[in-house]
Amino acid sequence: MKKIISLILSISVLALLVGCGSKSTVASTDTASSETAAKPKQKLILCTNAEFPPYEYKEGGEYVGIDIECAKLIGEKLNAEIEIMDIAFDSLIPTIMSGKADFAMAGMTVTEDRLKNIDFTHTYQTAVQTIVVPQNSDITSVDDLSDKKIGVQTGTTADIYCSDDFGDEAVERYSKIIDGFQAMKAGKVDACVVDDQVAKAIVAQDGGSFKILSSAYAEEEYAIAVKKGNTELLNKLNNAIDEIKGSGQLLQIVNKYIH
Ligand code: GLN
Repeated sequence: MKKIISLILSISVLALLVGCGSKSTVASTDTASSETAAKPKQKLILCTNAEFPPYEYKEGGEYVGIDIECAKLIGEKLNAEIEIMDIAFDSLIPTIMSGKADFAMAGMTVTEDRLKNIDFTHTYQTAVQTIVVPQNSDITSVDDLSDKKIGVQTGTTADIYCSDDFGDEAVERYSKIIDGFQAMKAGKVDACVVDDQVAKAIVAQDGGSFKILSSAYAEEEYAIAVKKGNTELLNKLNNAIDEIKGSGQLLQIVNKYIH
């Protein structure tokens, strides 16, 4: 009888151990989560504003550009499927704050003010705010912009800097910067301020009406935005960014779009 009791006891101890063991395995698989290829892919919603070539734009109905390709590559590293939410630039931060999208990639500049509402990953690109004017304009630098009408995209750093430096009334805001360029063509604004690579892409596509001034307005750095306090995703994105920077994959994507 004693033997039987001790046998039953050891079986239950064994069961307990096995039970604990399997439970902790499940728990650790859960926390290691997304990177394991065997697990089904999670979905991450990327919000962007696809009016910003060469970073994000539409070509033949497809979303393309540096940020889009980087996001997809990062998705692969995180074993996540990326779903694109294309919205206005000034809706990106509220959308991240509300949790309706997981991360924003939109040639988004890191600023102190934005850091109050969202978190930024490590930076992945540098950019310069540049001034674009009509070919025959006599504006040669930022100093000539006083008393001029300046076209910007709503909510961008160009909008913030120009409003600060020249006053609200000097700034014409457009939801797409391409509309600012159209307005410049029509003589409604004297200059547009926009990120350098975007300026180059639009000016090249237009073929001759505009020139980019060589004097830079401001230098900036792009990063990915996530909801404040979402350190789990922030860390995963930071690791992925570091990885694609280190492996040269980021540069490869950039070189595909910027020559
Ligand atoms: N880099 C600028 C900003 O973050 C513009 C970005 C954009 O228009 N997509 O404000």
